[in-house]
Amino acid sequence: MDRDLICENLSVGENGHLLFAGQDTVELAARYGTPLYLMDEDLIRKRCRTYLAAVHQVFGSTSKVYYASKAAAFRQMYRIMNDENMYVDVVSPGEIYTALAAGFPLERACFHSNNKTDEDIIYAMDNNIGCFVVDNLEELYAVDRHAAERGRKQPVMLRITPGIDPHTYEAIATGKVDSKFGFAIETGQGEEAARIALSLPKIILQGFHSHVGSQVFDSDVFIRTADVMLTFVAHIYRTYGYMARELDLGGGYGVRYIASDPELDIAASISEVGEFMHGKVVTLGIPMPAVSFEPGRSIVADAGMTLYTAGSIKSIPGYRNYVSVDGGMTDNIRFALYGADYTVLPADNMRAPRDMRFSVVGRCCESGDIIQENIPLPAATHRGNIIACLTTGAYHYSMASHYNRIPNPAVVMLREGTSYVAVRRETNADLCRLDV
Ligand SMILES: *Cc1c(COP(=O)(O)O)cnc(C)c1O
Repeated sequence: MDRDLICENLSVGENGHLLFAGQDTVELAARYGTPLYLMDEDLIRKRCRTYLAAVHQVFGSTSKVYYASKAAAFRQMYRIMNDENMYVDVVSPGEIYTALAAGFPLERACFHSNNKTDEDIIYAMDNNIGCFVVDNLEELYAVDRHAAERGRKQPVMLRITPGIDPHTYEAIATGKVDSKFGFAIETGQGEEAARIALSLPKIILQGFHSHVGSQVFDSDVFIRTADVMLTFVAHIYRTYGYMARELDLGGGYGVRYIASDPELDIAASISEVGEFMHGKVVTLGIPMPAVSFEPGRSIVADAGMTLYTAGSIKSIPGYRNYVSVDGGMTDNIRFALYGADYTVLPADNMRAPRDMRFSVVGRCCESGDIIQENIPLPAATHRGNIIACLTTGAYHYSMASHYNRIPNPAVVMLREGTSYVAVRRETNADLCRLDV
């Protein structure tokens, strides 16, 4: 067994081609062109069901799972989430618009962001957003004011920073006190926000929210977060007589990018977190609020893959070998952004020994335009070979750019042995459609 087949939906065919969700990636590349994003819809649906079954079993039927749609947001994703009875988290009017355009009922959405403009707030409210996750006092007052103008009351959760460093990349650690997100407990600002929210006439305080970071493998991070948050919930209950109805523990569960990343059992982790919380509420003498999770990456990341066609090969004697592909930082910014790890495979030549090291680089005019360094590939790798970069379902399409006027790849969904285009490939003409 090839240890680089890091996800259950990967295998190798008789012809030595990499199979994804049982389908031949080389045929898919030929049919839809490269660069190409593939997404395994069956796996996405399976992940939603795993989460829902786990939270319902551990926390009861009032608990929710919000898909953090920033991980991958386009109409078909919101349709799938609707189909699977998921809630979603949205962070911008663009995501709200896309959800609405997919027929997603916005009552099942919560609206994040550390800076919602008045226009954003009005747009979300006029489309009956379920809940605002309020990040700061200005926003809290603005939501109250716009709700008053509309003669309604608006449910909100308050985003609380529990002061937990999940020991992960600095750039994706958000639960520490010094953060642009939320109200810190340590400084008293969390309590102040709760007190003010309870006093505002048009605000319905639904509960509290925390999100401490991303690519978290250790249940202990969620347990420590739940510990701090439940203690806070109990403090607010004793001080103000207000018992939170919902406690959202955020997202952040990790996925495997490379073989040495651990494999996470999401259901087992949620069950460990639940066990701790059920004990903790007894100790604190409070009822258990509805508990929600907000996963993005762990729903879609390894359900995705990017296919490229190899172009020029360059060997610099005494230094290294390069293989350039027909995409790059425009479809995958994560190596440039935080040196992210990836597994890169020769999709059309999986049986050959991977006996030479290459830096797999993009086509952009930027030296940092690297997919991954030091990747073992067959020495005979040449122009025209299909190269697969694994685990690109989260934060790739949604972070894609048009640098160098490079159109975005298509997104093709794989479902029950068939495939279909969920997002069309951009054309050069698309790039000019807004130019005057
Ligand atoms: C990004 C984010 C998530 C999802 O994080 P993942 O690591 O993709 O699971 C959830 N909630 C909030 C508030 C976020 O900012």
